[in-house]
Amino acid sequence: MLTKPYMLILALSLLLIQSSAVAQSCQSQRVRLQMLGTGGPELLNERASTGYLIWLDDKARLIVDAGPGSLQRFKQSGAKYENIRAIFFTHFHVDHSADLAAYVKGGFFSGRNVNLPLYGPSGDTFILSADNFVKKLFSATEGVYPYLNPTIDPQASSEYKLQPHTIQWSYSELDTKEIYKDDDFRVASVSVHHGPFPALAYRVEVAGCVISFTGDMSGRLNTMPDLAQDSDLLVAHNAIPEDATGVPQLLHMKPGAIGKIAGEAKVKKLLLTHMMERSIDRQDETVTLIRNNYQGPILFPRDLESFHP
Ligand SMILES: [Zn+2]
Repeated sequence: MLTKPYMLILALSLLLIQSSAVAQSCQSQRVRLQMLGTGGPELLNERASTGYLIWLDDKARLIVDAGPGSLQRFKQSGAKYENIRAIFFTHFHVDHSADLAAYVKGGFFSGRNVNLPLYGPSGDTFILSADNFVKKLFSATEGVYPYLNPTIDPQASSEYKLQPHTIQWSYSELDTKEIYKDDDFRVASVSVHHGPFPALAYRVEVAGCVISFTGDMSGRLNTMPDLAQDSDLLVAHNAIPEDATGVPQLLHMKPGAIGKIAGEAKVKKLLLTHMMERSIDRQDETVTLIRNNYQGPILFPRDLESFHP
């Protein structure tokens, strides 16, 4: 028989457990993932190159990748640049980053007056780091657009500054790292294998929901299942078919590999993007291959489509 104080403690503990469970469950209606670009680098179809937008309480807050054409979709989405809290780049290939300068130029007319942090991987021989990408675009002396230098020069007058952060990429240090946190969002990243090119995958946690992004990767480092564990939405890049050979299969995941990741990570919904001519007409086969390891919903979103987690 429990005494009264013990019963009170028990009741309070149960209340606490219940309220923390509520805090952890996904507040789906508050969060929306919108496709800004579901294509790859080809010039062949109407899809913009890679870009994603995360909305919270009807305000666009985070951008993942800024491939060519994705800024046009951003404008069509009704998002406001001044509401964006950070931009995350999976890597600095053209089809993921070419619209950054256009965001920055357009941003001058937006009323934005708070700094904009930007995250991306470190560089190597073939590709720039986040810091160097921004520097090469906007340096006063060696930049592609020196007239936009005030956006990075702390001494110059401008409404806001771009704040690049380089996340160390490595073949050997494969832990998931928290790289960004504010009152609403927590973002973690991990190194992924994209041939010789440093690339990151991201996990975004917001309002008890989890949205993960593979970016471009072959899956060879096997870091994705941990990062994406229990994601409500996983955006995976479906750039090649199962019979791909040569360079493409060194850079990208085959459908079978996507299925293994989705199954192992127990994701609730799988969104396939970065469609290319070689993969877009083989969706039935892709689904069949993924079904070997994953039984949840599999969708092929179009540009501007939105999903609640
Ligand atoms: Zn790509």
